[in-house]
Amino acid sequence: MYTFNNKRYLPPAALDDLIVQNNLYDYTSILGYSVENRPILVSSFGSGKRKVLLWSQMHGNESTTTRALIQLFSDLTLKKSSFLDNLSIKVIYQLNPDGSNKYSRFNANGIDLNRDAIKSTQPESKLLNSLFNVFKPHFCINLHDQRSIYAAGNTNVPALISFLAPSYDESKSINEVRESAMAMIGNIYKKIKPNKNWSVGRYNDDFNINCFGDFFMSQNTPTILIEAGHHPNDFGRNLVVNEIYKCLSNFLNLFAHGNQAKSNINTYLSIPENYNHLRDLEITNIRCLEGLSNKLFIQFYESLKRDKIYFFPKIEKESSKKLYGNRIIDFSKFTNKSIDLKQNNQKIIEKLKLFLDFDLFLR
Ligand SMILES: [Zn+2]
Repeated sequence: MYTFNNKRYLPPAALDDLIVQNNLYDYTSILGYSVENRPILVSSFGSGKRKVLLWSQMHGNESTTTRALIQLFSDLTLKKSSFLDNLSIKVIYQLNPDGSNKYSRFNANGIDLNRDAIKSTQPESKLLNSLFNVFKPHFCINLHDQRSIYAAGNTNVPALISFLAPSYDESKSINEVRESAMAMIGNIYKKIKPNKNWSVGRYNDDFNINCFGDFFMSQNTPTILIEAGHHPNDFGRNLVVNEIYKCLSNFLNLFAHGNQAKSNINTYLSIPENYNHLRDLEITNIRCLEGLSNKLFIQFYESLKRDKIYFFPKIEKESSKKLYGNRIIDFSKFTNKSIDLKQNNQKIIEKLKLFLDFDLFLR
């Protein structure tokens, strides 16, 4: 297992520190409590007519967008941004503090909160629903992290950012509400400047009323999903924090000035759909016992141990599905010794480690 210093583990105690360090304390109050009785915080900004609700870390191990929110609102309040005159904003930085503490997607009852929108069985889901009902936002932003397996379209370019204007019915109809979510994404997308190392993707819009985005859309409130993704040289997800920051800042600017309706939905539909065919490493030119050159794919899995996140490599062999590596490593540059690729995966990993330092690829 490998680790390095990164900020992806963002437990409630670290969030409290960030709120204080960034002078957001005065804007923040307790919305309610989680299953394990941890406070769920909400900040309120601005006093304008147009109301926006944003939430992050409903999946506890998805903290990148939380960091972007903190930086953004710290800057906006410091500069006394004019956005705040036109908008009333509620921000839940961490809807799932119990999961965040354990670095888990799920809440303390093992429930995926983003499948609990309509049933609303969990205290965290109830709080989001009641804030939605009381505050009556005109626009919602649902913030997540996505895994490193997503490419923008049928390419080998990772989706550093992904968007979705969720469906509100099985037939994925487009009404005025969904159209305004699509138009907003189109406008945000036009301002992003991808490069050859990363691009932007669009999520599958299969309808699931148990997801908050789909549910809020069905309640006639435009909602967009923004996912922070992976850059092959940035497992700490520091680069993408800035990109998400820019997207959110552009969103607030557009929404504050009410000009999101000027765009049509074609820009949104032009964003390539996500393909889940990327893996962290593609190791090529492995000499195996049969003398044949071969390749395999490695995906890193994360686990929390004593306040640190460790990444452990797992082998994935290409099956019927064609895979691509986020990084390609020519194994023949490390050794010309042969490796028995018929042994079990753990043994293959142990062998690879004799020649390859996986740590080198985790930065
Ligand atoms: Zn998520």
